[in-house]
Amino acid sequence: MFSSIEKLCEERKIKLTENRRIIARVIEESRDHPDVEEVYYRALKVNPNIGMATVYRAVKMFEEFGLIAKHDFGGNRARYEKLEGDEHHDHLIDIANDEVIEFFDADLEKLKEKIARDKGYELVGHKLELYCRPLSK
Ligand SMILES: [Zn+2]
Repeated sequence: MFSSIEKLCEERKIKLTENRRIIARVIEESRDHPDVEEVYYRALKVNPNIGMATVYRAVKMFEEFGLIAKHDFGGNRARYEKLEGDEHHDHLIDIANDEVIEFFDADLEKLKEKIARDKGYELVGHKLELYCRPLSK
């Protein structure tokens, strides 16, 4: 089975080695916004001979080609995810548990557009990160 990253690469005539295919699939299957190190450990389970440098280069390449999104949720490490087509979501970062929770709020999306429009702009891109700690009970 091909991942959609692999499909996109094929469409753009980007050559993929077997290791890059593995890395593409690992990112594709991750739902938790892993950093490069986590991608590396997951790729190792598929191919124990894969190198960290290979993972770094592949992730950088996928990012440069716009196939994956890079996030900085603090903590000095970039985290990655594959976006599905035009899908959009925002992130809530639980700083106590280092967890990332995805959410989508239609009213909020409208509000973002309204803010831009009221200032005389057309919204062409946006991202929102909420840094939170759990409510104490
Ligand atoms: Zn996300």
